Amino acid sequence: MKSIMVDMDSVLTSGNFSKILEDYLGYIPDYKNIKNYYVQDILGDKKEDFFSKFKDIDMYANATLLPDCYNVLKELSKYYTIYICTDYIWREIVEFAGTNLKNKYNFLYKQLDFINPKNFIFTADKSIINCDIKIDDKISNIEGAETKILFTAWHNKDLTKEELDNQNIIRVDNWKEIRELLLNKRSKIL
Ligand SMILES: [Mg+2]
Repeated sequence: MKSIMVDMDSVLTSGNFSKILEDYLGYIPDYKNIKNYYVQDILGDKKEDFFSKFKDIDMYANATLLPDCYNVLKELSKYYTIYICTDYIWREIVEFAGTNLKNKYNFLYKQLDFINPKNFIFTADKSIINCDIKIDDKISNIEGAETKILFTAWHNKDLTKEELDNQNIIRVDNWKEIRELLLNKRSKIL
């Protein structure tokens, strides 16, 4: 059975951090012009104040899975071994990472009831994970896998097909496309 590493933020669930950031700012930032992976960098000198408040918020309390994610993952779990791998360390408030880890664990435990919690992996260094297939919105996290799937997010949307082809990376926009790639017998990668 092949193994799949699946990222959490911006792959299983999306927009949770942005929502808190928008509430704090009082407006919706122009994401189109933000190319940085770390959206909080737009905060400038308000960053410290934001994180002093943010550290106590469970950003997964009202989070939901992306459309089709539950059903596709459940189907995939019959044919593949699934690992959910997520970073939990905030660069700005490393000392409070334990709270984030707990919130992430609780979300995964509640939402993905068919995945053994032993298959939840919490690490910032995904290069140590030896899975055949890796699905993530960050390119550096899928490097080295036999099948590299990039989940579209605002910070990677400008990467061209040619750039991705050169690195043997397949882009997907949603979970239906993951189903087509990994479960449809006619898929070119199976
Ligand atoms: Mg992610």
